[in-house]
Amino acid sequence: MIVDVHTHFWKKDLDLGPEVERDMRRAGGAPGMLEITPESHRAAIAGAERAVVFGLRASNCGLNVKNDHVAEYVATDPKRLIGFACADPLVDDPAADEIKRCVDEFGMRGVKLGPTYQGVHPDDERLRPIYAYAEKKKLPVLFHQGTTFAYRAPLKFANPVQLEDIAYRHPELKMIVAHMGHPWIGECVSLIRKQPNVYADVSALFYRPYQYYQALKLAEEYGTHRKLLLGSDYPFTTTQQSIDALKKMNDYAAQYNLPPIAREVTDGIIYRDSLAELGLT
Ligand SMILES: [Zn+2]
Repeated sequence: MIVDVHTHFWKKDLDLGPEVERDMRRAGGAPGMLEITPESHRAAIAGAERAVVFGLRASNCGLNVKNDHVAEYVATDPKRLIGFACADPLVDDPAADEIKRCVDEFGMRGVKLGPTYQGVHPDDERLRPIYAYAEKKKLPVLFHQGTTFAYRAPLKFANPVQLEDIAYRHPELKMIVAHMGHPWIGECVSLIRKQPNVYADVSALFYRPYQYYQALKLAEEYGTHRKLLLGSDYPFTTTQQSIDALKKMNDYAAQYNLPPIAREVTDGIIYRDSLAELGLT
């Protein structure tokens, strides 16, 4: 089973403020990347049997994606698409009510948060009721926990280590650190090694090949590669590009005389049944 655990959906004109494009341009990204349609999303996940879809609500950075837009798209292929709900602690008051609404109204099955984009600490008291609810309802929570191109996202809230208090308080809660917490990959590997229900996804790492190589080698050496999940971070990459990059990782290693990454690591990420790991089957 190939599962893409990390894809975005939004309606650019309705959901994104002008600063998103401006921030992307400044960070060297192509603003055309921000266009998403149901057709482009479907094409991008062609390599996956299942895909998790969410919108980020972070008014602090101009991201105001309506969960209703995500739900509308997920409803076009409910067997294959799995909707995750997002709440903005600065707008949705109380934030947990927006998550509950998405579960009750749309049957969403997990939570997406980006505390740094949202301008709050991951353990902010406005987010805490979400963790209690998600643990009780067995909803995995995927965090953008790592750096970002967004100017107004404070780095002090972005390190993956900041999730550990939440993991201690909610030991049954399944948590996923997106992008292996880049560039704090060592911290992410340490966290998923010791916290039984914390995982990481490898989305949007392959276009920095040396960092990605090091990330996979580090996970291999610490024996944490079994907790790495496939993700694309569409619209920034596609599922198939993410799979191809894993398959070609050892061509890169050979080119620079680096020791190869074990097949068990790369194939494990591609074929892992992430839905079973996250309790979503
Ligand atoms: Zn993302």
